[in-house]
Amino acid sequence: MTQTLTALLDKARHTSELTYEELLQLLSLPDEQIPELMAAADEVRQNTVGNQVHLRGIIEFSNYCRQHCCYCGLRADHSTASRYRLTPEQIIDTAAAAAKTGYRTLVLQSGEDPLIPAETIAELTREIKKLDVAVTLSCGERSYDVYRLWREAGADRYLIKQETADPALYKCIRPGHTLQERLQCQKWLKELGYQLGSGCMIGIPGQTVEILARDLQLMKEMNTDMSGMGPFIPHPQTPLKSGTTGSISMTLKMLAAARLYMPWLLLPATTALASLHPKGRELALRAGANVIMPNVTPEHVRSMYQIYPGKLNTRDSMTDYYNRIKDIVESEGRTLATDFGHSMHPAFQL
Ligand code: SAH
Ligand code: SF4
Repeated sequence: MTQTLTALLDKARHTSELTYEELLQLLSLPDEQIPELMAAADEVRQNTVGNQVHLRGIIEFSNYCRQHCCYCGLRADHSTASRYRLTPEQIIDTAAAAAKTGYRTLVLQSGEDPLIPAETIAELTREIKKLDVAVTLSCGERSYDVYRLWREAGADRYLIKQETADPALYKCIRPGHTLQERLQCQKWLKELGYQLGSGCMIGIPGQTVEILARDLQLMKEMNTDMSGMGPFIPHPQTPLKSGTTGSISMTLKMLAAARLYMPWLLLPATTALASLHPKGRELALRAGANVIMPNVTPEHVRSMYQIYPGKLNTRDSMTDYYNRIKDIVESEGRTLATDFGHSMHPAFQL
C-alpha cells in the first residue's frame, strides 16, 4: 500500500534511504502535488548543501563528433551540420576571460573529436589550472590511460552522463554501445579520483517512470557527485526527430526526488530546461538545484553547438551574462558561491 504524500515527504526529510517504490511514487505524482514535493526538496537542499549556488562556465570547444547518438544534433551522421574546432589559444583566452569574470569552475566540453590529440587537452588543462579554477572535462568515452593523462594534468571533474539506466533503451539510443561500457568509464574516473558528473535525459522516447526511478538508483550506486538532468528536446536531423519533448513537470520531479535521495548532490538547473521555459532556472532552483552552467563559448561559434534545437543563447557580454545569472540567483533568495564548489558527497576527499 502506498503511504500518503505527507508521510512519505516526512520520511524523506529525515532519511535519504528511499525505496524503489517510494521513488516511483514521487515520480508518479500528479502536477498539483509537485509544489509539495519541491518544498520538501528545497528544505533538504537548504539543510544539507545550503544556500549557495555554484556557477560553472562551459566552453564548448569543438562540435566534431565520431559518435552516432540518436538524440544528438552533433552526431557524425548529421552531415550538413556546420562544424568548428577552437584553437588552443582561443580556448585559453576564453578561459582567462571567464576566470576574470568570476567563474571558479570551467567546463571544457566537446563531441568525441578524433582530431584533437589527448595531449592537447592535457596541455589545455595544465594551462587553465594556472588560472586558479577547478576544471571539469566532458569529452565522452576515452580509454583509462587518456583519463589518467588528463587527471594527472590537473582535471578535477569529469561529466559523462549515464543517459539512461535501462540497458535495452541505452543500446537503442547509442547504437553500437552498451550501458556497461559507459559505467566502466564512470568507474575508471572515480578510481582516478575525479569528481563524477552523471545524469540522464528526461522524456527520451521509450523511457518509463520505472526507468527514471532506476536512473536515480544507478546514480546513487555509482557515487555520483553531480547529476545533470534535463528534458530531452528532439532535434530534426536525428533519428529521434519525431519524439515528444521531455516534460517540465517530470524534470522538476526528478530534480526534487534526486535532492531527497542524494542530499549531497551538485544539481544543475540545466540549460535544456531553461531553453524550454522562461523561468526554467528559477523553477529548478526551487526544486533542489544548486548549480548553473552558463555558456561562455565565444559568440562566433556558439550557435553551432546545437545538440538540440532552440538552445538558449545570449548576446550579452560575458560580464553582463554573469551579472544576469547573479540577479536570478539573488532574486531567489540564494547567494553565489565564491569557492570552487567541489563535491559534497560524504566519501569525497580532496
Ligand atoms: N560528447 C559528450 C559531451 C557532449 S553531449 C558526451 O556525449 O558525453 C552533452 C549532453 O547533451 C549529453 O550527455 C546529453 O545528455 C545531452 N543531449 C544530447 N542531445 C540532447 C537532446 N536532444 N536533448 C537534450 N539533451 C541532449
Ligand atoms: Fe557526440 Fe556527445 Fe552528441 Fe553523442 S551526445 S553524438 S558523443 S556530442
